[in-house]
Amino acid sequence: MPELPEVETIVRDIRPALVGRRIEHAALSHDDVLRGVGRRRLIGRLIGATVRDVSRRAKHAVIELDGHRLVVQPGMTGSLVVHRRPLRADEARYAVLRARLDNGRELVYRDVRRLGTLLLLNDRQWARYTGAIGPEPLDDEFTPERLGEALRRSRQAVKKVIMDQKALAGVGNIYANEALFAAGIDPSKPARRLLPEAHRRLHAEIRRILAAAIASSGTTVRDYRTGTGEAGNFQLELLVYGREGEPCRRCGTRLTGTHAIDARITVFCHRCQS
Ligand SMILES: [Zn+2]
Repeated sequence: MPELPEVETIVRDIRPALVGRRIEHAALSHDDVLRGVGRRRLIGRLIGATVRDVSRRAKHAVIELDGHRLVVQPGMTGSLVVHRRPLRADEARYAVLRARLDNGRELVYRDVRRLGTLLLLNDRQWARYTGAIGPEPLDDEFTPERLGEALRRSRQAVKKVIMDQKALAGVGNIYANEALFAAGIDPSKPARRLLPEAHRRLHAEIRRILAAAIASSGTTVRDYRTGTGEAGNFQLELLVYGREGEPCRRCGTRLTGTHAIDARITVFCHRCQS
């Protein structure tokens, strides 16, 4: 699933093409991606609305309209692109939401397996929604002390805590694996046993890696595409994710892959991480 750097890349790409534009027509191919809103209400709110801003919160793209926000969480096979030309047949085939703008361009949410979700929230619903999500790791409010608080009060493995959206926004499996390797921390270690020095290291590595991934337009493992339809480049810089059984780049030891921590693949070096 696209994580913070991928959604940030999409938002930066589509924002200039959307802000200030009016939506003239909108169509939804399937209802199963909708959460808390029906097709008629969604389409009714979109048509005639002007896009005030496009931003990101955690792993969601937030398209701000008059009094409402369209919140898109692209799934593993989802993409959000503003097209300058009519869609090719293969592009239109998996287009779930299409919104035609007043300049003839089209915002398209495409999702082959429809694992993503669309929400339409008014201001009150948005306040509740964003209030339930933890701090943005690249914002100043996210400090080593704040990370330390979340880790200290948990009995879970450190990897689970940094992927918990209530503790920290936007970090998923890829960047959790990478940050824990870079910080030299065993992903299965109980979070509350980490010392302040480890909080500082992990905090710094989470921020460094997310920023580097944004600079590389995100990680394309399978279907992720930027807001202009390109692949990302950060997969070339991954040190552990997807490399189980291969030698550690730091010490040469075979990297371990396990599903024991959270049913997702965790890859780590048992020599470099403790
Ligand atoms: Zn190693």
